Amino acid sequence: MIYIKNVHFATINALLTRIVKCEHCGTVFIYFMEVEAEGSADSPYFLTEKSAKKSAAHHARVRMNSLVEKCFLSIPCPSCFLYQKYMFKAVRDVENTSVTLGFGGLLVGGVLAIGLRILYGLTNAEWIWYLAIATFAVFTLPFLYYGSHAAKRLIHFDPNDMPESHRKKIAGEQAVEKSLFEKSVHTMHEEEFTLYVSELTDNYDGHAPHFDVPFWIDETMLENDVMVDICLPTGEFVEIEIERGELEGKKYRFRRVVNNHKIVFCCILRTYTQTQRRLDQI
Ligand SMILES: [Zn+2]
Repeated sequence: MIYIKNVHFATINALLTRIVKCEHCGTVFIYFMEVEAEGSADSPYFLTEKSAKKSAAHHARVRMNSLVEKCFLSIPCPSCFLYQKYMFKAVRDVENTSVTLGFGGLLVGGVLAIGLRILYGLTNAEWIWYLAIATFAVFTLPFLYYGSHAAKRLIHFDPNDMPESHRKKIAGEQAVEKSLFEKSVHTMHEEEFTLYVSELTDNYDGHAPHFDVPFWIDETMLENDVMVDICLPTGEFVEIEIERGELEGKKYRFRRVVNNHKIVFCCILRTYTQTQRRLDQI
């Protein structure tokens, strides 16, 4: 009997805004992280199509929740350029990979040498044997020299011993202080809005034009109903009532008239999320 099944897949993508309070200098900084979670479920003989689809989506959501709790990027603080302790292992793993590659090279050299030795026996091509010894030596000697040093370094490896210029570069490219981030987001909204208004015409088919204003709050604030003040790009502060447990992407609309144009400001809820279960990662 042939077993036929239909496999359903579901994928969820999310851009997380990670927030970190530096354990060294107390600076609160953020970085962005893209995550993807997949789920799958079978529908035997196409009999449970609907529930398989649901189940695949459910698995993807469960995986996404786990990712949101656990995953992180190893990025130094943009203020003191030091890594947080829970990030050490991840940086160490990268170092481990390079040492593993070194071992791989050694192995290839060895296998090559033995292989060519056999070949030498068969073909009597002496120069190949010498070449193999040379290859082996090229991999082995540096390994003997650096190997013990590298192993010691891995065990006691502290990424904060890496040159500051290196850490500064990573931090500069990927992290930003929270206050700076919020300031620059607001400036960007203002500039975009000025341009947006200058290009508005009266022909918008009866639909008032929308302008998106994403804003960020701490995810812990969603444990209760909360009121927040948001600054629109016009400089006006509006009060938004956010319900407990509200989801990212929720839109709060405000109708205003700017330069005789009716405009709808669409304030979009985003959250700062923290890596939980950090101790598991050490
Ligand atoms: Zn710091």
